[in-house]
Amino acid sequence: MPAVLSVRDLHVAFFTYFGVVRAVNGISFEIQANETLGIVGESGSGKSVTATAVMGLVEPPGAITGGFARLGEVDLFFLPEKQWAALRGERMTMCFQNPSRALNPVLRIGEQIDRVYRRHRNEASKQDAWQHAVHLLKEVNIADAERVMTRFPHQLSGGMCQRVMIVMALMCDPTLLILDEPTTGLDVTVQKQLLALLRNLRGTSDASQWLITHDLGVVANLCDRVVVMYAGQIMEEAPIDVLFSQPRHPYTCALLESIPQVNVRNQLNPIPGNVPEPLHLPSGCPFHPRCKHVMDVCRTVNPEFVVFEQGQRACCHLYAQQGDRDV
Ligand code: SF4
Repeated sequence: MPAVLSVRDLHVAFFTYFGVVRAVNGISFEIQANETLGIVGESGSGKSVTATAVMGLVEPPGAITGGFARLGEVDLFFLPEKQWAALRGERMTMCFQNPSRALNPVLRIGEQIDRVYRRHRNEASKQDAWQHAVHLLKEVNIADAERVMTRFPHQLSGGMCQRVMIVMALMCDPTLLILDEPTTGLDVTVQKQLLALLRNLRGTSDASQWLITHDLGVVANLCDRVVVMYAGQIMEEAPIDVLFSQPRHPYTCALLESIPQVNVRNQLNPIPGNVPEPLHLPSGCPFHPRCKHVMDVCRTVNPEFVVFEQGQRACCHLYAQQGDRDV
């Protein structure tokens, strides 16, 4: 069975007045049927740009400058814009960060869901759309779904807006659901409810989920596999239990060490230094200015992937003599 999404050697750049910002630099990954893949990394690592490229939403001065993305059997980057747009909202959907801003403030929720649904289902009546939306709102634990359909976004909480966005994304029964920072800005209780909802969706929806987050706790809760990104490149990829039990890449290790422990006071371990400016990426391994294992070779040569057992791979000179090369 082909992967639901296959991305190969993707490059995305922004041609700004100050120079070329290379936001994504040759990344490759796949998402399988019924799988939840997490892409994790700090702000500016290229996670969201990767998703907008797959969705066909990179706007000038940005451009996809290399690689390909295949949704099932369809080569997205070779599609005419009209056909690509037809897939958005139907076969692949994206819930953007900050749902209260992503929703149209002057349209009632029911009208917004109706527009998305009937754009792709021309034959559907308003009544069909309404019934389907109410059904899905109840599935995402909104008890008074009919009332919510008549509300404006500002009348709903952040958690409710996030659920509405998920319903809009699921209306056409997509094969791929992209969730960009789904829990950001929500309080802890609502975050917990949302994570439970997303887990539950895996049983009720056929959509594979692609989760973009900086929060390893969210990843641990939801994902089957994780891709760790830094400065537009993949540093490591592994099944979730392998990543947490045996992280290989120094950046992954630093990310895991930086998670605050509730029962340990005064012990924060932030990663030293800052994410590099995308306009001035370091030579060699992009993580070398912050890496405590840095060697001379790291400053000049960007490492290749080394493949380990259990589907783990890491891009680091520390493992140059181990594993298999991933070409
Ligand atoms: Fe650190 Fe070198 Fe590995 Fe980069 S390649 S993560 S600098 S050890």
